[in-house]
Amino acid sequence: MSNRFDGKVVLITGAGSGLGQASALQVAKEGAKLSLVDLNAASLEETKRQVLEVAPNAEVLLITANVADEQAVQNYVNETVEKFGKIDGFFNNAGIEGKQNLTEDFGIEEFQKVVGVNLNGVFYGMKHVLKVMREQGFGSIVNTASVGGIRGVGNQSGYAASKHGVVGLTRNSGIEYGQYGISIKAIAPGAIMTPMVEGSLKQMDPVNWEEVGKQFVQPNPMKRFGKPEEVGYLVAFLLSDQANFINATVIPIDGGQSYKY
Ligand code: NAD
Repeated sequence: MSNRFDGKVVLITGAGSGLGQASALQVAKEGAKLSLVDLNAASLEETKRQVLEVAPNAEVLLITANVADEQAVQNYVNETVEKFGKIDGFFNNAGIEGKQNLTEDFGIEEFQKVVGVNLNGVFYGMKHVLKVMREQGFGSIVNTASVGGIRGVGNQSGYAASKHGVVGLTRNSGIEYGQYGISIKAIAPGAIMTPMVEGSLKQMDPVNWEEVGKQFVQPNPMKRFGKPEEVGYLVAFLLSDQANFINATVIPIDGGQSYKY
């Protein structure tokens, strides 16, 4: 068992489900102390239960917070530093899909809601965590973008705009902070089978969503959904010291779909 995260503190948003939960499990297995943030307190408790199953000695701080609220973001960063004294890795991951619709019907409120969580939330997280990391002189940030942050998807104006924004923030801030020993990268997952994707398929067909899912993955070169733990392996590597020279860039994890004509 690798122990790349012995003595390290990893902060994760959206840690109650899907990619955040899988990444929490992976870094905990490798020795990390965890500060886990989510809107949903019950799901955080479930992640903690799973973490303690794979890493019984892990120290785990749970913080219920809305990443779209800057004060709440400042608080989760402060609480993490008060408890653990530093932040080595930050998986800036919480996000929502929003209701699928044509651009003209997307709705201003829906657009603002999706951008508020996916883009503002990521910016607030970077703003407060980067201050801590610059003072420390080290740190690694992984922002969750999406294939929808590097390609058009359709029916997802808010999602696509916010995720393209996350890629832009990553490139901009990576260039600013490399000189302080801090690396910042984004991941661009394709369709990974999490509760979010299940919800997305159910928007397309509430009854036959599993069949829709089978059709959905046919254009993928690997003809399947990704698994949350596959993203967990990538995030753990990107947050580790081994990936320090990977900076200001976006890494797809999508079975090759975003490079297919
Ligand atoms: P998920 O719905 O399983 O998990 C997201 C978690 O974020 C949930 O626990 C939810 O409670 C939390 N969350 C939502 N809004 C929040 C808020 N305002 N404040 C705090 N927590 C909040 O989804 P997932 O698939 O694990 O997605 C995680 C991230 O990965 C998202 O940013 C998503 O856009 C991105 N992503 C997912 C996929 C995929 O196929 N699953 C693909 C590309 C990108």
